Amino acid sequence: MALLNILTQEDEQLRKHSRKVEKFDARLHTLIDDMRETLLNSGGVGLAAPQVGVLRRVVVLLDINKDPEEVVELVNPEVIEQSGEQRIVEGCLSVPGVYGYVTRPTWAKIRAQDRDGNWFEREGEGVVAQCFCHETEHLDGHLFTEKVEEYVDPEDLQRGDEEEDAE
Ligand code: ZN
Repeated sequence: MALLNILTQEDEQLRKHSRKVEKFDARLHTLIDDMRETLLNSGGVGLAAPQVGVLRRVVVLLDINKDPEEVVELVNPEVIEQSGEQRIVEGCLSVPGVYGYVTRPTWAKIRAQDRDGNWFEREGEGVVAQCFCHETEHLDGHLFTEKVEEYVDPEDLQRGDEEEDAE
């Protein structure tokens, strides 16, 4: 496994549309393994393949409501249902040091394939619903800064008890 370089917002790759994964082969597994390691090393809660310069529809994230140690692997993910509304602080590994309030659903259901191509569905609440939306948007070339309603001074976050993880 290898640690991958996380691109930052100036990089054009982050604005591009990622292609659907068609082959569930060793190359995909290596990418997912490297993304897992990179995520766990980053201190963030989610990572999408375009953030490491690979324009494929692959996401890894931590379901911190269920098991913060478990890395969830999502290939070709799509948010298929969502409900509620929460206004929460968000950040992104590709936009270091920048945090802002965005509006996200309080609950979301995702449909995705695992690394061998088997389809499954998964639900998430709160920060996990937020993460489902944030990461799938990366696959379409969107950054959370497009949705920020109000930026927050990172120093205020560190003082408060609502310190946010980057995605
Ligand atoms: Zn992000």
